[in-house]
Amino acid sequence: KAFTRSLYKIELHCHLTGSIRIETLNEFLREHGLQKYEPPKSLTLKNCFSAFPLVHSAIKTKENLRRLTFETLADLSYANCIYAEIRTTPRALNDINKAGYLETVIECFKEWEEGDSRLIPRLIVSVDRSKSLREAEENVDLAVEGFLSPTNKYIVGVDLGGNPSSGNFKSFIPVLNKARENGLKVTVHCGEVENEEEIDGVLEWGPDRLGHFLTCSDEQFQKAVEMEIPIEVCPTSNMLTLDLPLNVKSLKDNHGTLQKCMESNHSFSVSTDDSGLFSTHAVRELWLVAQAYELDEWRIAGIVWDMVDQVFEGNRKTRAYLARDVRVRIKNM
Ligand code: IMP
Repeated sequence: KAFTRSLYKIELHCHLTGSIRIETLNEFLREHGLQKYEPPKSLTLKNCFSAFPLVHSAIKTKENLRRLTFETLADLSYANCIYAEIRTTPRALNDINKAGYLETVIECFKEWEEGDSRLIPRLIVSVDRSKSLREAEENVDLAVEGFLSPTNKYIVGVDLGGNPSSGNFKSFIPVLNKARENGLKVTVHCGEVENEEEIDGVLEWGPDRLGHFLTCSDEQFQKAVEMEIPIEVCPTSNMLTLDLPLNVKSLKDNHGTLQKCMESNHSFSVSTDDSGLFSTHAVRELWLVAQAYELDEWRIAGIVWDMVDQVFEGNRKTRAYLARDVRVRIKNM
């Protein structure tokens, strides 16, 4: 693990609320007079989704959101991530509205960057597919407005996620088009549950990255390869979604998409998804892949190297810094 720890890493699929530390979650719940969260004995995608309303009920104030954001940045930084795209669904809290929610997260990113950490934080604005189209429009409008502001440096993209069993992709196409037409990159959660038709629809639309992409057929995977759409692999989360035991062997034997990426050299990233709820971190996720495929140090480094080209960051200079930092570090190891 020492090698995966010391590598400079990139995090591309990280939900802010799902990254909450369990101690912090319980502190917030206590503060608001709510019942303690007991992590389930065996985690599944279902009980994870049922935890989100509880976590949301714990983050009630701007101060809660600030602490969550800073702790998430600290955890990523501790894992030696030097660039992270953190995604979150804006919502009104007791003392701030939806716009204030995004402003608060950005304010934290700014303060963080003024410190001495190497981590460059960026923001992806999420759309929750289980919520209304109006909510989706509001979120994308906020994302576009922030992105087009002359001082923007943080907002880089839009994400479609949320409970994969509710809502349908097609109805969100107009809002995703709006994001794209305004220059935002778009990532779409796809193939978390069996839904061949929806996966076809997502591929036809062609997002910039695909989240998870677990239940795709060989033809659908091939289409992603032809379209050169990188896949965001989140090993622990994916094993939970597929209802697998959480270990290296089950990752190796059952994660068909990761297997196909390895075999065909298709671009993928390795990320945490919901590090708090899944009790994981960026070092562990990369280590799981390295162990599953018995990768030597150069091949582990190669995964991170490849991720440099998958970031949504639009600023050429920042991309160049990132590439240099990752690559120089690898060369010196
Ligand atoms: P937030 O957007 O920062 O509040 O993060 C929590 C939200 O992320 C959840 O309510 C879901 O909408 C979304 N989310 C977290 N994990 C997953 C996942 O594995 N699949 C799809 N959506 C997810």
